[in-house]
Amino acid sequence: MNMLIMTTINLRRGMDTQQVVLHMNHGTGDNSYANNSIIQKKVMREAKATVEESIKRLYTIIPIHCFKVADLGCSSGPNALQLVSNVIDIVDTTTSNLNLKPPVFQFFLNDLYGNDFNSIFKSLPKFLESLEEKKGHKLGPCFINATPGTFYRRLFPNDSLHFVHSSFSLHWLSQAPKKVVNKENIHLTSTSPPGMHKAYLEQFQKDFKVFLKLRSQEVVAGGGMVLTLFGRDKTRDIRTVWTIIGTILNDMVLENLIEATKLESFNLPLYDPTIEEAKKVIEKEGSFSLQRLEAVIMGWDANINEGVDENNKLDLNMRAHFITKQHRAALEPLLKAQFGENVMDKLFLRFKTKVVQLMEEKNLEFPTLLVSLTKNA
Ligand code: SAH
Repeated sequence: MNMLIMTTINLRRGMDTQQVVLHMNHGTGDNSYANNSIIQKKVMREAKATVEESIKRLYTIIPIHCFKVADLGCSSGPNALQLVSNVIDIVDTTTSNLNLKPPVFQFFLNDLYGNDFNSIFKSLPKFLESLEEKKGHKLGPCFINATPGTFYRRLFPNDSLHFVHSSFSLHWLSQAPKKVVNKENIHLTSTSPPGMHKAYLEQFQKDFKVFLKLRSQEVVAGGGMVLTLFGRDKTRDIRTVWTIIGTILNDMVLENLIEATKLESFNLPLYDPTIEEAKKVIEKEGSFSLQRLEAVIMGWDANINEGVDENNKLDLNMRAHFITKQHRAALEPLLKAQFGENVMDKLFLRFKTKVVQLMEEKNLEFPTLLVSLTKNA
């Protein structure tokens, strides 16, 4: 009953399109997120040592009988349950080393309402079976729950979580900044006026602060939080992607394939902070102490060789194809809702061609921010 009421309130207050439209491509098809989230998998791998460090620290300060963990922005596909596996492995080693009994686990998988939770549920029996096979009697009871809703609102009761994780989700803002005039682009580019930069930065500051404040109410004192998100530095950025898509959409307007007003009214609700920008918000908000804040540099085609023979050198065309599919899986639902399904194939075909051209010119890389925090007492 309570759950039902909460969902209704959330929906009524948050009827902005992003909450309903934003999700990764569903299912397990060729363009699905499940089959095109290898870069994000690499991000999780990069963060695993930091997750371990955070959980070990937790064990030295809090007695844990039922270990409560939330993964915010879990999406669907293999990555959605990756954190569960990682945490169980880490806790298993930590408790063995400390001669402690393994805890009961309770995981909360969170994402927006449009997320393909059904795919996760369907994969659970196999996942739990393989966990049992791997861990046997050593594994305590493990409860996996879904918590739909935006992480820019309260999701859990006070002091109810020991550890919060969010991988590659927090660069999504609650909304694109209002009142920015950005007719021919879909995001910030090298030619955007300073006012637009300011508007995007302010939206990020506002959202990130809200996120930290809400989580500080939900996480127990001493609890841990590990976050990864798109970052930005002087030489490497992900904004080239948005510039390419903006240019292609502009061409499509000129060819009468899409309406100019559709492009004029669209801005991506996304921000890639620098280390300093993220640090400032964390310090100003004040509920968490910084344990680690660093940038991990990755190629646009990071992890492409996963499952591929090392000697099988992938050519530019194959690498661009991979990059295109990774971006399509994440961006298509938003772009489709704005510009129509019929232009999607064309858009991403052109995207791939532009990526090939760019790769001939330079190394395409972007920073991912890795943030580890503990909740102040
Ligand atoms: N953690 C996964 C998914 C990353 S994709 C992985 O590493 O593969 C980003 C996810 O964040 C998407 O599934 C998107 O729906 C979700 N997301 C974006 N904004 C959100 C919000 N405000 N609240 C909850 N989830 C959000």
